[in-house]
Amino acid sequence: MEVNLIAPCGMNCGLCVWYQFGKYDLNKRGIHKEYCPGCIPRGENCTHMGDKCELLAEGKVRFCFECVDFPCKRLKSLDKRYRTKYHLSMIENLRFIQTEGIESFLAKERNKWRCEKCGRAICCHNGLCLTCDLDVLIQNPKYRWNEQKQ
Ligand code: SF4
Ligand code: SF4
Ligand SMILES: [Zn+2]
Repeated sequence: MEVNLIAPCGMNCGLCVWYQFGKYDLNKRGIHKEYCPGCIPRGENCTHMGDKCELLAEGKVRFCFECVDFPCKRLKSLDKRYRTKYHLSMIENLRFIQTEGIESFLAKERNKWRCEKCGRAICCHNGLCLTCDLDVLIQNPKYRWNEQKQ
């Protein structure tokens, strides 16, 4: 996990299914998803996160907490969706980065998302390690946290 994988909105792109698919080139394994290098590396806003923000699109803030409107309505609704479905809160992440610094945040993230079997990061969109448990996703591409593994 690297600093440039932490997006301005507080998302950790290293946990994202589109990022991990690209990183491990998983389309070769017979299950298809778009590849994304992460918000900062790709140089534009995430296309999977709804409406665009002009400040972010123009690169005027590195993190949303630098913005006078933080946390804006758009970020709150994104945060709610991720808290409910994907076990993370962008706003909580941003507040942690703001008070504790990015290195402490990365250390916390490595610990929180670490696969017990291989040490790589679990994917937040399905709760699976895409190295150890990819077969679960191959059998059920819609698999998400709340479903039982088969
Ligand atoms: S799709 Fe969005 S959240 Fe996922 S890696 Fe790309 S920019 Fe990050
Ligand atoms: S308006 Fe501010 S808080 Fe909202 S997404 Fe844009 S930069 Fe982030
Ligand atoms: Zn693993």
